[in-house]
Amino acid sequence: MQTTGTHFNYYQVCKRKLWLFANGINMEHTSDLVYEGNLIHEESYPQRSSKYEEVEMDGIKVDFYDARNKVIHEIKKSDKVEKAHEWQLKYYLYVFERNGIAGVTGILEYPVLRKTETILLSDIDRETILTMEKEIQAIIESEVCPPLEKKRICKSCSYYDFCFSREEEE
Ligand code: SF4
Repeated sequence: MQTTGTHFNYYQVCKRKLWLFANGINMEHTSDLVYEGNLIHEESYPQRSSKYEEVEMDGIKVDFYDARNKVIHEIKKSDKVEKAHEWQLKYYLYVFERNGIAGVTGILEYPVLRKTETILLSDIDRETILTMEKEIQAIIESEVCPPLEKKRICKSCSYYDFCFSREEEE
């Protein structure tokens, strides 16, 4: 299966979430990430112009690419899983580079928090991404769903009922 930015994000958040999502078990019509990005964009930047392009390549889909300035904007609501957001965006930069578009910068935007973070790709990141890609593929191709791990993020995860409904009954 082709690795996507969502896989990179979920890999950081929870291996079980990654496996469930990649194996077609979806609790919502659309992924949390796509929904969140589009909703926040509409609410926060109602008149953001057409300077942004939508780019799809190698399994990733970037909603806001500023081709003139070579900047990918990734819009998020909360910074609770900031590390996951950073790696998702680094993976976008990596895929752009792999397709011959070098020198692209990422900007993580949290309009609700009035916060932005610039994301760059280092040589160590490139090596780490290669390792992560292999681990992501091993997880999603496994016959076995990774075990439940209680995390702070569980309560806001779309798989919460799936993971915890039996526990609540007991
Ligand atoms: S509810 Fe928790 S354990 Fe279950 S998939 Fe989500 S983050 Fe992982």
